[in-house]
Amino acid sequence: MKTVNTFLLKGKNEVVLIDSGENSDESMAALERGLGNIQMTVCDIDRIVITHAHVDHMGMAGRVAEAADAMVFVSELVKPWALDHKSMWGQRISVMLPAFLQFYPREMKSTVEEGYGSLISGFQNAWVPINPDRIAIYESEGRIEMAGTDWQVLHLPGHSKTQSAFFNPSNGDFLSADMLLKITPTPVIEPDDQLPGHRNKGILEMMKSYERVRSLDIKTVYPGHYEVLTNAKEVIDRQVKRIEKRTQQCLEFIRSGESSFLGLYNTMYENKFILPALVMLIGYLDLLEERDQIRYEERDGYLQVFPV
Ligand SMILES: [Zn+2]
Repeated sequence: MKTVNTFLLKGKNEVVLIDSGENSDESMAALERGLGNIQMTVCDIDRIVITHAHVDHMGMAGRVAEAADAMVFVSELVKPWALDHKSMWGQRISVMLPAFLQFYPREMKSTVEEGYGSLISGFQNAWVPINPDRIAIYESEGRIEMAGTDWQVLHLPGHSKTQSAFFNPSNGDFLSADMLLKITPTPVIEPDDQLPGHRNKGILEMMKSYERVRSLDIKTVYPGHYEVLTNAKEVIDRQVKRIEKRTQQCLEFIRSGESSFLGLYNTMYENKFILPALVMLIGYLDLLEERDQIRYEERDGYLQVFPV
């Protein structure tokens, strides 16, 4: 991720930082620079509030908290990550890697595994632990007072099942985390809470979250990445439409005889191997499976997909 946004809420008696960015000296310098532009320093931060348990949003929270002598507020869903992100990553990998590996022919499996190994170790350096004494909890769905303003907290799974966003009904401000960005968020693969050992189907949750956000009277979106948006409904409609269009394209390729994940991927993404695209394709397949339009069958040692 090239850039991530953090937001500062300035009240009469409190200064709140929303998300911290991932840990690196550049991130810290960028945060200090941003604060300096408004004649503030890290020491002015009273509280850090985290939207979801992704490295680019909370990796540096522990470091900022120490520098500012501040508490880090996380939802009860983010808390296990705040306490021990390494073991949570382990749990995630244990469902994520098999989700990909099942689609690859035997001779490719070790290459795929190695690729993921290096990807994950890269994340680890960008995530510093948070002193448990500095962690406080807010409810993932409810209300929170920040910098003297009352915000609605909405649990919006899909991109991450730990994700909450904050809505201020009095002025329409929406701190959207990664639920609403100018690009479509990816439905990251995570363990399913109901089915131990299985992965969730983030895209199904994401579609519901889109609907929920669409029903809010949003004026301004402050997203986790990219620029501020003022056309929330339009952005949602465009992204949902695109998801439906791509899902339909995927079905057409399957109907025309493409049965391997790799073949579908190469057709839909022109051989560019990137994780968000892989995750998105799994999302399209999840939608098609949910709608009983495709079925899976193991052939030649890997999972292949066929139209119903
Ligand atoms: Zn993000």
